[in-house]
Amino acid sequence: MLIYANPRHAGHSGRQEMYRGRLVPCHEVPARLEHVLAELARRPLGEIREAPPVARALLEAVHAPRYLRFLETAWQQWVALDPANAELDALPSVWPVRGFRADLEPANFAARLGLYSFDAGTPLTEGTWAAAEAGAACAAAAASSLAGSGAPRAAVALTRPPGHHAGADFFGGYCFVNNAAVAAQALREQGARRVAVLDVDYHHGNGTQSLFYERADVLTVSIHGDPRTEYPFYLGHADETGAGAGLGFNLNLPLPAGTDFAQWRAALATALARIAAFAPDALVVALGVDTYEGDPISRFRLASGDYLQLGADIAGAGLPTVFTLEGGYAVAAMGTNVVNVLEGFEAAAR
Ligand SMILES: [Zn+2]
Repeated sequence: MLIYANPRHAGHSGRQEMYRGRLVPCHEVPARLEHVLAELARRPLGEIREAPPVARALLEAVHAPRYLRFLETAWQQWVALDPANAELDALPSVWPVRGFRADLEPANFAARLGLYSFDAGTPLTEGTWAAAEAGAACAAAAASSLAGSGAPRAAVALTRPPGHHAGADFFGGYCFVNNAAVAAQALREQGARRVAVLDVDYHHGNGTQSLFYERADVLTVSIHGDPRTEYPFYLGHADETGAGAGLGFNLNLPLPAGTDFAQWRAALATALARIAAFAPDALVVALGVDTYEGDPISRFRLASGDYLQLGADIAGAGLPTVFTLEGGYAVAAMGTNVVNVLEGFEAAAR
């Protein structure tokens, strides 16, 4: 497989996130990706490349132009308010919920930060935009690499910040640009008639679902902690099946906290059967490993060894596959768990 690693990821390094009334150290840290790279050095799975810049038109096919303009200038605006802000992260604290206007972009920076976000757990830092844009470039390059004869069976966008919680015009859940959606859109634009996105992160892929909810050309499937008790809470229920032309092209498989691998794997079989019935030309896997039993903010019970089987099961779909890196907050186990998925996929895809 081909691996596109984000060279700018460490520039996004949040200091603190809001959690239950206090600011706590960020869970989504640069060391997550460094552990994956270190494990890939021990267990090489393919060439690691740097991606060319991502086309703005591709980003604008996924995200609202005014949202992208906000992200790329947000840090400068934050520091312009007060030079002392350079030593702080920008964290939103006010939001336009039901009945407020979201069509107008406020002049006030805090109000704009709230307009384009949905939680206070996602700090925007000096290097956030550069990291997010370079991550989208990895996703686009991974998709492109699957086209043509002699293409590899799989490509990986090894990047952070993650992407699956980011919607057309909002960030949150540690995500800014939706890399899985960028990969799916790129696959469509290069000729795939239908693309499936399979989200195996512990948390529902609300951003990806919302981006494709009214489209029949991209099937979105997510296996995740039941949103009645698990983040992101307000989306991810089983009765969300798509709308308009996309009706029937979204499948949510929420599972209770405490789910073990046998239960989880049964849901994966359901997901893969739906994907097979859709008969896509390519698959995007939003790969979070926060389903791990040692994850500090999630509550499934997958063991490190289970990820080999998870990768093999996904390879059984027989599809050209892009992996995008999403969550996983047991930092020291991150390398083993991610590389296990990829190694399991490779062994079964041969
Ligand atoms: Zn997650």
